[in-house]
Amino acid sequence: MLDKLSEVLRKTTDKIANAIFLDKNLVDSIIKDIQRALIEADVNVRLVLEITKKIKQAALDERISGLEKKEHIIKLLHDELVKILGESKQIQLQKHNVWLMLGLYGQGKTTTISKLASYYAKRGSKVCAIGLDVHRPAASEQLKQLFDKLNLPVFIDKEEKSAVKIWKKYQKDLDKYDLVLVDTAGRDALSSDLIKEIKDISKLSKPTETILVMSADVGQTARTQASKFKEAVDMSGVIITKMDSTAKAGGALTACAEVKAPVIFLGTGEKNSDLESFDPESFLSRLLGMGDLKTLMEKIHSVMDKDEIASQQQRLSEGKFTLDDLATQLESMSSMGSMDKIMSMIPGLGKIKDKLSPEMMEQQEKKTKRWKHAISSMTKEERENPEIIEKQTSRLQRISHGSGTSTSDIRALIKQFKMLKEMTSMSGSMKGIESGSLDQKTMMKLAKKFSKKARF
Ligand code: GDP
Ligand code: MG
Repeated sequence: MLDKLSEVLRKTTDKIANAIFLDKNLVDSIIKDIQRALIEADVNVRLVLEITKKIKQAALDERISGLEKKEHIIKLLHDELVKILGESKQIQLQKHNVWLMLGLYGQGKTTTISKLASYYAKRGSKVCAIGLDVHRPAASEQLKQLFDKLNLPVFIDKEEKSAVKIWKKYQKDLDKYDLVLVDTAGRDALSSDLIKEIKDISKLSKPTETILVMSADVGQTARTQASKFKEAVDMSGVIITKMDSTAKAGGALTACAEVKAPVIFLGTGEKNSDLESFDPESFLSRLLGMGDLKTLMEKIHSVMDKDEIASQQQRLSEGKFTLDDLATQLESMSSMGSMDKIMSMIPGLGKIKDKLSPEMMEQQEKKTKRWKHAISSMTKEERENPEIIEKQTSRLQRISHGSGTSTSDIRALIKQFKMLKEMTSMSGSMKGIESGSLDQKTMMKLAKKFSKKARF
């Protein structure tokens, strides 16, 4: 169910959480991912653009800094998505409930009635159904078979051609049930005779809920369908079926929200158990793969401690950056992601990045893993002053043995570290890079220096 969208949203929130710098390139790529995934899920393009515009504005807002910004963006994404999923509506059962089930041909009315019967019977309600689909000869038989399987009572009359008469015939019997599910006939479209039929049945049965059943694959036309049914009868909610069989379910879901037709249940398969009550907030949490927004926020914080970031920036700006800090950084960010980002941040380096093949990127990733091992085999003294390793081969060999890395790996690590240190002390403060406030000249100087030294 909306698997692709779910995957992209999960990746996106990970990307935001793991990012050390939310630079423009990263923001652009995140926005593009979200747009593509939402549009593929059939969400209205206008809605998609509105959401991503807000996210972009927040992301590039200079007044919000670092960690707050990440929180802010993820919360914004979460809230905006909840908003387009519409209002939550939970039905409270009355003493006696009559649910009038409406919908066009083949949308899943009869199947859904069977699912609802099973759902509420399991929760202790006395449930029955009445078959008022007099248009299709086999309709009442289908309903009967489904209810026989559930061992629940069903009221049908295969000979009678008037829905109203069938209702009147069983009216007294129906009073004994907590929940009466009324199966009605569909049409290919909402024609005037269908409207008349629905109105007649509605007048007679006085439903406590009037529910439109709609298949998810109708996509954004759900908007027209839902609003037309709403106009014709006092429709109180929607059940969207076949969520399992289309990647475009986002269209129907968001279209219902737009016309303020609250979605109550989702049908997610052909079996009786394939029914889920719908709540925008928990639906989204599931798409995002999180328990709730709080867990999502914790995830951001777990990536890197706020004080840790501040103290690293402080040490960087004072030129006190050590291998320990590098190890912390390697630990806290997915190494390739960050390399990627640092490179695309500096003019001139983006080109080198484009030349790197996925294999080379992967190699680089493996390399950073070895570096982490090497750093953990160093003494405190060595970590603070790696030059002594370069000078004494015995140290180099000890670290190499201890960490299972080659001496050339360790040399490369130290070289990279020195370069990074040089780069950051030149720029004065990483904060400058983060906020994009480095002047163009310094950037160019850095780029030149860095690209000359970097060997991939
Ligand atoms: P009605 O004409 O509105 O009463 O539609 P039916 O209940 O007869 O359903 C039409 C078809 O859709 C049947 O083949 C059902 O098995 C199928 N169907 C209904 N709900 C779902 C669902 O949630 N998922 C899937 N995959 N199929 C469904
Ligand atoms: Mg039917």
